Amino acid sequence: MRRVKLPFALPLEDAEILRRRSLVLAKLCMLDEGFCTIPVRGIKEETLDALLHLYDDLFLDSYLGRTMRCLRVTISTRLTSSAGKFLCTKGAFRQIKSAEIRMSGDFLMRLDEGPFFLNGFSVATPQEAFLVVFEHELCHALETALYGQTGHSARFLGLAKGLFGHTAMRHSLPTRRQEAARAGLFVGSRVCFPLKESTVSGVVTYIGKQATVMVPDAHGEYQDRRGHRYTKYRVPLDHLKRIP
Ligand SMILES: [Zn+2]
Repeated sequence: MRRVKLPFALPLEDAEILRRRSLVLAKLCMLDEGFCTIPVRGIKEETLDALLHLYDDLFLDSYLGRTMRCLRVTISTRLTSSAGKFLCTKGAFRQIKSAEIRMSGDFLMRLDEGPFFLNGFSVATPQEAFLVVFEHELCHALETALYGQTGHSARFLGLAKGLFGHTAMRHSLPTRRQEAARAGLFVGSRVCFPLKESTVSGVVTYIGKQATVMVPDAHGEYQDRRGHRYTKYRVPLDHLKRIP
């Protein structure tokens, strides 16, 4: 591992991490009432900017502001497979052209009362869960700024543990797919659902916010390799019933 002298304090004491995280939360709640209700009503763009700047100032001595000025935090309602994501594009000389921490709005808005168990510890509120998910993605941005690449190596864990006390990388916040799986729905499941006063049945081919279901239909616009025709429906997950 290449040693780089880090331009910020690491590791931090647990109590200090908690103090700084609550400070961020208090400041965000002052800025954005909708973010602080349970369940969360929404989050403003300015709040996402403030989130990044507060973390950068309080935890990283503004290192990212100096070295990765293009970094943005966005919220996406279409991101349903994970709670957060770090995306980065590089130019011809491996310089960073764009960097984004994309947070799942779908995720945030569905969180109700805690506790939530994530990254090795538990937090009480949806807002804290959101911050902890953000911290994980921030470590990916930071590792990229420091070393040019990022993954889930020991080096990454060292940053996540030293800065934010994360001791694991898994969380128990359910994604849509996991929630569907709990209800016995998977890609390939045979299901039925109500359609215009009757019930039709088909096969699940995708699970996101809604499921895609292919229903056999002699006049359908989709055709499989054996010549069977189907119509495609997008169906809310709670309308589906599994056919055993
Ligand atoms: Zn990660």
